[in-house]
Amino acid sequence: MQEIQKEALVQKMHAEVGRLKQEVDRLREITKPVAPDDSIGRLSRMDNIVNISVNRAALSKAESRLAGLEYVLRNIDDPEFGYCMECGAPIPHARLMAMPGATLCVKCAE
Ligand SMILES: [Zn+2]
Repeated sequence: MQEIQKEALVQKMHAEVGRLKQEVDRLREITKPVAPDDSIGRLSRMDNIVNISVNRAALSKAESRLAGLEYVLRNIDDPEFGYCMECGAPIPHARLMAMPGATLCVKCAE
């Protein structure tokens, strides 16, 4: 991969990491266990439980995506970077830009 392409990619990944960190903070905040409050009715409590489980799922997705990106960023100077982990083919730059942190080529990801 050319240096200039790599630089663009690193920038893109840093931006994505920043966005994900905000997302994780926001989701952590809204999935915090709430103290039982008798002033909310049973229905809204049910609603709340459903929302929390949806948001927890989103939180764990965002966290694992964040961990994946941070891993890739730590290993950006690895000579293997930009190559498919599965078959070793170079991953097209366009794919890396579209999916920062991708470690598989299009074929292997399918
Ligand atoms: Zn592959």
